[in-house]
Amino acid sequence: MRMVHVIGAGLAGSEAAYTVARLGLEVRLYEMRPLRMTPAHRTGGFAELVCSNSLGGEGETNAKGLLQAEMRAAGSLILRAADRHRVPAGGALAVEREGFSAEVTRALEGHPRVRVVRQEVVALPEEGVVVLATGPLTADALAQHLQELLGAHFLSFYDAAAPVVLGESIDHGVVYRAGRYGQSADYLNCPLTEEEYRRFYEVLTQARRHTPHDWEQLEFFEGCMPIEELARRGYDTPRFGPMKPVGLPDPRTGKEPYAVVQLRAEDPQGRMWSLVGFQTGLKWGDQKLVVQSIPGLERAEIVRYGVMHRNTYLCAPRLVEPTLQFRQHPRLLVAGVLVGVEGYLESAATGFLAGLNAARLALGLPPTVPPEESMLGGLVSYLARANPENFQPMNANWGLVPPLEGARKAERRARMYRRGLEGFKVWLEEALAPFAALAG
Ligand SMILES: Cc1cc2nc3c(=O)[nH]c(=O)nc-3n(C[C@H](O)[C@H](O)[C@H](O)COP(=O)(O)OP(=O)(O)OC[C@H]3O[C@@H](n4cnc5c(N)ncnc54)[C@H](O)[C@@H]3O)c2cc1C
Repeated sequence: MRMVHVIGAGLAGSEAAYTVARLGLEVRLYEMRPLRMTPAHRTGGFAELVCSNSLGGEGETNAKGLLQAEMRAAGSLILRAADRHRVPAGGALAVEREGFSAEVTRALEGHPRVRVVRQEVVALPEEGVVVLATGPLTADALAQHLQELLGAHFLSFYDAAAPVVLGESIDHGVVYRAGRYGQSADYLNCPLTEEEYRRFYEVLTQARRHTPHDWEQLEFFEGCMPIEELARRGYDTPRFGPMKPVGLPDPRTGKEPYAVVQLRAEDPQGRMWSLVGFQTGLKWGDQKLVVQSIPGLERAEIVRYGVMHRNTYLCAPRLVEPTLQFRQHPRLLVAGVLVGVEGYLESAATGFLAGLNAARLALGLPPTVPPEESMLGGLVSYLARANPENFQPMNANWGLVPPLEGARKAERRARMYRRGLEGFKVWLEEALAPFAALAG
């Protein structure tokens, strides 16, 4: 039982394997590259950064900054390598990618308790504790095996995500709560006049799209057409689609607006709201212009941008506990993009928690979860408790942790940062205590 299997040596799997080994247990780490490559990776190195070289903004007012600080406190291999190979990037933690990946690879290949197995895994090991971390480009045979094990409809192969905005940044004097035809008032509605719709349409049709990688040409189904594509089809198409105002009279006027943008809560507390039917592949700067051209969202803070790209991920709220164990298969844990987080840093952070809990399970100890005030705690709690309908991957953001009162945003966030980090450190000490005698 003291051996843990980790499948995939990307950001999540490398961190998970290192955590298990550092805590004193044996690890078998499976990686299919370079024998079999993914469409995005270029090397056989571990923790290869497939696109940008940034692990996110730093500092006390930045949600990713808090997650970085928690990872440093946890003794993260990814953060240690990032700090050693950092390059100047004006307030962001960016790295020189080859040196970064080489350091992670060396640390794992040279570790006495890690056995690296260069092999494509096609089915989960039948015994022992397993951390699954095969990422957004999980190889086909294993993806098929997971579909059989978990249910085909719980595994997605594409992200078609709409932007998500922070609840506290919505202008509640403009939006109104209502459900279509008087159904339960779960939605916030942004009303547009004819003139506002015309201006919105102009901004939308002038916005630029991301260029997808050539291996990732997407086919859109009518039900998840990007909003910019709907607009391209005709001036009124969005207004007869996701922006339909029918059955949504504004209680203040008693009349239906010319068009409506509906917002749906992403979390049970209503801290984050997504724009219904607004899945988009627009460039992020242009996406912000489009969102902020909507009445009620002029000052909206986007906590997760819309994306349309190839991505393999599970419907975590239906399958996974905040400990990152599968509810039906508690010896199996899952981390990284596959569990439904977005980003290098978030992948590594969930890798740390999965590694820690795998080690605890292998020793017969109960798994543990960081406090909700910490960014990692907020993230895993979101995964387990998010709205399972239309579940989309999430990155670190301030909507994941309980808010604090205060007039100035920067000061509020700095206090949330300190509260989160303190809580995380207290939890960490207790979570690591049983391993003190083990790791040599
Ligand atoms: C094209 C693309 C660009 C991205 N750009 C960014 C970006 O710029 N910034 C950002 O923060 N995030 C980005 N992401 C999202 C995400 O943060 C990264 O993909 C990140 O690497 C995910 O970490 P991971 O550990 O979950 O997966 P990965 O880092 O991809 O690691 C998974 C590993 O599992 C291996 N593997 C897969 N299947 C098997 C198998 N059956 N057997 C054995 N090994 C297997 C893979 O070879 C890989 O090494 C991007 C994703 C994609 C697809």
